[in-house]
Amino acid sequence: MDQQVAAAETGKGPQHEVVIIGAGVCGIYQLYRLVELGVNATVLEAGSDLGGTWYWNRYPGARFDSESYTYGFSFSKELLEEWSWSERFSGQPENLRYLNYVADKFDLRKHMQFDCKVASAHFDEDADLWRLHLEDGRDLTCRFLLTAVGLLSAPTPPRLEGMDSFEGPSFHTYYWPQEPVDLTGKKVAVIGTGATGVQVIGEIADKVDKLTVFQRRPNWCAPLNNGPISAEEMADIRSRYDEIFAKCARTPGGFEHEPDRRGFYEVSREERLALWDRLYGEPGFGIWLSNFREIFMDEEANAEFSEYIADKIRRRVDDPVVAEKLVPKDHGFGVQRVPMETRYYEAYNRDNVELVDLQETPILRITPDGIRTTERDHDVDIIVYATGFDAITGSYDRIDIRGVGGQKLRDKWADGPSTYLGMQISGFPNMITLAGPQSGSASTNYPRGIEVGVDWATELLQYVWKHDHTRMEATQEAEDRWTQHVAKMYSTMLMRKAKGWFTGYNSNVAGHEYGKVRHLVYNGGSPKFRARITEVADEDYTGIVFS
Ligand code: NAP
Repeated sequence: MDQQVAAAETGKGPQHEVVIIGAGVCGIYQLYRLVELGVNATVLEAGSDLGGTWYWNRYPGARFDSESYTYGFSFSKELLEEWSWSERFSGQPENLRYLNYVADKFDLRKHMQFDCKVASAHFDEDADLWRLHLEDGRDLTCRFLLTAVGLLSAPTPPRLEGMDSFEGPSFHTYYWPQEPVDLTGKKVAVIGTGATGVQVIGEIADKVDKLTVFQRRPNWCAPLNNGPISAEEMADIRSRYDEIFAKCARTPGGFEHEPDRRGFYEVSREERLALWDRLYGEPGFGIWLSNFREIFMDEEANAEFSEYIADKIRRRVDDPVVAEKLVPKDHGFGVQRVPMETRYYEAYNRDNVELVDLQETPILRITPDGIRTTERDHDVDIIVYATGFDAITGSYDRIDIRGVGGQKLRDKWADGPSTYLGMQISGFPNMITLAGPQSGSASTNYPRGIEVGVDWATELLQYVWKHDHTRMEATQEAEDRWTQHVAKMYSTMLMRKAKGWFTGYNSNVAGHEYGKVRHLVYNGGSPKFRARITEVADEDYTGIVFS
């Protein structure tokens, strides 16, 4: 790597061999791998510190829905020995502390630049390098551009009239203020009932004077069943890390939860109920991921299970009218990402919590004092927009990325992404989209997925350096094949009809309306994805042209 530094110093090469955009979970691990190899790499991070998702999302109730000990990095035995998780699903402050601990332990912070937003990245075809322009006015060059921009990092507030006129504090959950917000005695509105809204509502219902939830569509939620991890349990987990990570690597979702391999129709209704009763009482995503596989593909199987969950909701919510509003009618369980909840349904049994059904009484506008629906004015002190994200491609769209011939990535992906293995894009040489759209890394327990993607990317770069190449680019043909493969998998899944972010639906983003499926995620599961990218590497990277 000495040549890289020398070339940069003499001004004959790019300033950096590698620029990584983003200092979240993915950027941290990618940087670790490159620093270990002695590569001249820097991380550019828009936030004022590292942590990505866990830096930004400071809303009350923010926590893992992955078991904490399956979320930590697996690359360092020493780190695994040193770190203790205090809860099975640990909260945002602990998660952020963990990422800082990792960065400090491996002395990574000195390679990171904060408050550093990339405005544009243009590929220079004559020099085979990327020219970056930062919002602070600086320019940078690099040979390879690695995007670790996150899956859910482009927040989308609603487009409601009068939002600026509101006189109290209001924020999207992603931008929850760093200073604690005192909710005591306050009238709080939460708009949105996805995984984020559900966490906020469950956490603050008993802390505020009045909570008004504005729900457009209910979600199918399931109990997180969180709890502390004792010192003895942590010691046991430590002794089983190899086994735990091996299991995660075998499962489609990268979790400990394995699908039930029995056929839905091969077992009796009693056996199905026994499985569901057990899973409903267990911690985490088992109810979703350890279920019968037919739930995701077969309308009838899905309907039977959805009715089982609807029954749970009706039992947990006292008022039958409210309970019915909380039961989704337009989609079945698990075809959208399942929000994991703690005391969520019970919140609606409290006198200080009101559910406003926006299908019956839509929001007309935000007023200086609160929210006006077609029915009446709701006076509130604070408005929380838990309205989600322009998923996966949104953070790419926010950078002016231009490839060969000045082609804009934003234009290329206008109707949905097309990629090779979710990590390369034809027409955009020397760019690796870590956990990019259509990669298996993006659709699994995140750290498990990104470790696979980052390891593959690092080996690809080592291959390039070993052969003294300065340019690599996926062929259009390889990209078309992969993109068709990803699209084909959607056609077998019930999720293709749902209004969730898996299909790119977002009512707050022009062009992302319902019905126009954007094939954002690879649905083949982690083992198949890993096998395919390993095969590509073993074949000297078929589908990628080097020069
Ligand atoms: P989301 O799932 O997209 O939910 C957004 C919510 O806001 C939906 O209820 C949506 O209603 C509503 N909404 C959007 N625009 C609206 C508008 N203009 N008016 C009224 N309601 C509106 O977003 P999210 O809750 O932030 O979750 C996104 C993803 O983040 C999750 O699926 C998950 O992958 C991740 N996440 C993970 C955790 C964790 O535990 N680790 C926690 C939170 C989030 P409609 O359904 O009608 O569109």
